[in-house]
Amino acid sequence: MRLKNKVALITGGNSGIGLATARLFLAEGARVAITGRNQETLDAAVKELGPNLLALQADVKDIAATERAVAQVAERFGSLDILFANAGIGGQTPVGGTPLAAFEEVLRVNLTASFFTVQAALPYLNKGASVVLNGSVHSVLGAPRYAAYAASKAGVRSMARVLASELSPRGIRVNVVSPGAAHTPIWSAQAPTPDAYAVLEKRLSQGIPLGRMGEADEVAKTVLFLASDDASNIQAAEFFVDGGTTGAPMGAPIYRT
Ligand code: NAP
Repeated sequence: MRLKNKVALITGGNSGIGLATARLFLAEGARVAITGRNQETLDAAVKELGPNLLALQADVKDIAATERAVAQVAERFGSLDILFANAGIGGQTPVGGTPLAAFEEVLRVNLTASFFTVQAALPYLNKGASVVLNGSVHSVLGAPRYAAYAASKAGVRSMARVLASELSPRGIRVNVVSPGAAHTPIWSAQAPTPDAYAVLEKRLSQGIPLGRMGEADEVAKTVLFLASDDASNIQAAEFFVDGGTTGAPMGAPIYRT
């Protein structure tokens, strides 16, 4: 039990990586709260994971709602040991065809809301707490059509470093987990049918040295490490969980002869 007696809050915990992390944290003995917008998937998470899970509806763009959710978590479980600011959206914003609102929506959810989630949690974070922010390989890939998403995730990395400086006096660690393409519902808008998903998966896998997309659970295990006392001297780091996409791009199947 690596998280015995710990209290964790996961934003976007009703789907994908956040849900996998909630599942793992509970199995490791934590008391866990999740937030999300979709009441149906919030309810489904409670049904699956049981009464030790507190599920709260809150839009991360709504700072007051986030503050209320954090206060409810503290009321139910006491102060916080772990914050996983995970809620995020994808979306393409090609240069030459992107309205301001679409660009700003991505930054607002992925970057601005992550900052205000940490700020809302601050009064409740224990000495030695762990904050993990969800980044992405897109912060370094230069992938076409992803300007807002890439900028939001690069912003997450540089913001995490600043937050680590500011929170070090309280012994609070701030780190980033940056997934590569992983199987979660985030791809459903881009690939809404099984056939479209198979094409997407094949194309993406060609660019990943390990030759496959990741699983939400593989990201969750890295978040568990960063959240646990095993990572007690890891501060302001970014861990890529990407099958080598960023570290060894020339090893991808597409380059093999
Ligand atoms: P997902 O299954 O679509 O989950 C996204 C989560 O974020 C959902 O729980 C969603 O809740 C929540 N969310 C989105 N907008 C929100 C808002 N305004 N307020 C509150 N919650 C909101 O996708 P995922 O892949 O697990 O994504 C989790 C994180 O991983 C994101 O930050 C994403 O950028 C990052 N990531 C994913 C991949 C990948 O390939 N899967 C790769 C790199 C990085 P509702 O459904 O209730 O809105």
